[in-house]
Amino acid sequence: MLEVKNLCKYYGGIKAVDGATFEVEKGSITALIGPNGAGKTTAFNCISRTVTPTSGEVWLDGERIDHLRPHKITGKGLTRTFQISRSLADMTVVENVIVQSKVNGIRGLFSPAITAEEKDKAMAILDFLGITRIAYEDGYNLSYGQKKLMDFAALLMSDPKIILLDEPAGGVNPSLMEEIVGHIQALNEKGMTVLIVEHNMDLIMRLSHKIVVMGQGKVICAGTPEIVRNDPAVLDAYLGGVLEAEAA
Ligand code: ATP
Repeated sequence: MLEVKNLCKYYGGIKAVDGATFEVEKGSITALIGPNGAGKTTAFNCISRTVTPTSGEVWLDGERIDHLRPHKITGKGLTRTFQISRSLADMTVVENVIVQSKVNGIRGLFSPAITAEEKDKAMAILDFLGITRIAYEDGYNLSYGQKKLMDFAALLMSDPKIILLDEPAGGVNPSLMEEIVGHIQALNEKGMTVLIVEHNMDLIMRLSHKIVVMGQGKVICAGTPEIVRNDPAVLDAYLGGVLEAEAA
């Protein structure tokens, strides 16, 4: 469904992404992992066109998308979350969900007032995520975890085919992490394709059908969790230290 071919993003002399090539199969949960600074978020940014790639190609469902503007990419069915919540403090959760989705590109930031249809759709998504109780809370009253769930809800407003999740479990407590895992699995069971960047290896090993490992801007290994877990290059560059730390 998603093909990334020889993707590069250079910042002056810094090769944040340096010739990365990988695929995300339709209906899969694919993880992008690697040490800090490996280029994962930059790859996400290039795919969603939040930044312009230096070179390389990104294809979605057989169509090249790397030259498109972000809202056009959202319109093609690809949308993403950010590590840091982009919630607006002086709006309710339901308003945030709708406005964020407009920023993501459904109708553009400056489209007129929220419609009844949009509100119904946002409420249905909040219901799916089990958070209707906070629908009318102001953004500034939300906990960090609630903001994560709100961002998740905004993501679904555009009826995406593929979602890119940037550290969805980053900084959340174990029970919310389980909730988020459940939501990702439920969406995937309904046919959603998922690409996920995450440092929590327990979550990644449980959720992923395929794992792509990046190091220094390049893909150093890609395969099933079993293959990646036993790859000497991955153990050496990343996973050895992480698994030891999680076991400690
Ligand atoms: P983390 O797991 O810590 O989020 P990452 O794998 O997502 O790391 P990136 O954030 O993509 O890594 O960063 C890759 C490299 O590119 C790093 O060396 C980073 O400092 C550099 N980099 C990222 N964005 C910029 C930028 N806007 N300007 C200059 N350098 C950047």
